[in-house]
Amino acid sequence: MAPAGRALALVTALAVSAAGGGSAVAPVQAQDLPRGAPIIRDTEIEQLLRDYSTSILRVAGLAKQNVRVVILNDRAFNAFVMDGRHIFINAGALFDAKTPNEIIGVFAHETGHLAGGHLQRLREQLAAAQTASIVAMLAGVGAMVAGARAGGSGGSIGAAAIMAPQSAIQRSLLAYVRTQEDQADHAGVKFLTATGQSARGMLELFKRLGDESLFNSRFIDPYLQSHPMPPERVAALEVLAKASPYFDRTDPPELQLRHDMMRAKLSGFLDRPDTVARRYPLGDHSLPARYARAISTYRHGDSRDAVAQIDGLIQTQPNNPYFYELKGQALLEGGHPAEAVAPLRRAVALAHGAPLIDIMLGQALVATNNAKYAEEAVPLLHTALSREPQSPDAYAQLAMAYGRKGDLAQADLAAAQAAFMRGDVKTARQLATRAKTRLPVGSPAWVRADDIVSVKPPAAANK
Ligand SMILES: [Zn+2]
Repeated sequence: MAPAGRALALVTALAVSAAGGGSAVAPVQAQDLPRGAPIIRDTEIEQLLRDYSTSILRVAGLAKQNVRVVILNDRAFNAFVMDGRHIFINAGALFDAKTPNEIIGVFAHETGHLAGGHLQRLREQLAAAQTASIVAMLAGVGAMVAGARAGGSGGSIGAAAIMAPQSAIQRSLLAYVRTQEDQADHAGVKFLTATGQSARGMLELFKRLGDESLFNSRFIDPYLQSHPMPPERVAALEVLAKASPYFDRTDPPELQLRHDMMRAKLSGFLDRPDTVARRYPLGDHSLPARYARAISTYRHGDSRDAVAQIDGLIQTQPNNPYFYELKGQALLEGGHPAEAVAPLRRAVALAHGAPLIDIMLGQALVATNNAKYAEEAVPLLHTALSREPQSPDAYAQLAMAYGRKGDLAQADLAAAQAAFMRGDVKTARQLATRAKTRLPVGSPAWVRADDIVSVKPPAAANK
């Protein structure tokens, strides 16, 4: 999963919290994310979700906008868009979706919101509603004051005056959001049909969700979150979905297997061992079940036992990069970095350009304390950083690699960049200041250090 950082946690190094900066996903700002929801980074899952979403985004005319799917570590079923560049999906949705087609349907619906420019228009409606609401409130306050002056029970009349217009505004906003939902459903089915895929998954998912709204926005009253999905919406979707010539088309078996492996991986990493054991009992010899148990063993049990189980997986699929990645991660976190190097090298070779795996190999190389390995880690981490330019972990490993090589100037610069990406501007500036004294004035590295020194600490950092 996420590159092995300091801890064993699923979302270690590249996790973003609402408090800290340094997301590994470039343009997502921490403050835009739902409170306390960390991002899950994993090459295998991200690749699968990219495969799910690419053709949908293409037929929606969004291929060039570089829309990224971001996985949130949240067990609630949810998917949403908050800007034009990201589709957020909760791990809970990936868990609950039984087929690729269900998640593809979710992406089709969310892409419908993106293609329709719904966010921008919803914001405009909300701004208008907020203005109307303030006007209504002031009118209510006026009535209350007038009532109080007149004596008697005017206060409560005033309170009623405050409430009534707001609920009217809320109803109109709700109607507006429902219109957008219907439009997104329509567009979603259109995208699915254009890519030769069925809308059955989307329909079944919506039916199953029943009383949950897929649309989530922090701007909207909680009423919306708990409001039942209107039956007429499901009925309308059913008509649309069944009109498609592809309604009965099912997912290719190899895609279904990748989907099942994703669910197994999430369960292995996120569920308690007893839950994993119940979900994937020992009698289940399928690859996903063995994957989930191996991960759970590595997370909670004996690392040698875990490695033996992972070796069994490798025997079944000798060219699966993620099995080697898992083996390397288990060995690295089990305190055997030298043994982790070979499987991670294999994972890097098989994955064809997976920066998160590069970073993990870099970490293993650095952790061996071998100067020659440190030498190798430097270009590897630079390559990874060209694809993941905001990874504090990659910078931290790079700092250590330079340190091992005795290049203190570059070590300071990389450490400054790591601190900066973590949102620790104060430490970043201190380290960058020291780096500048060690670097040739005006050199590219000096300029980068100087950039950090001249950054003003963001006001939000004091919160
Ligand atoms: Zn929606």
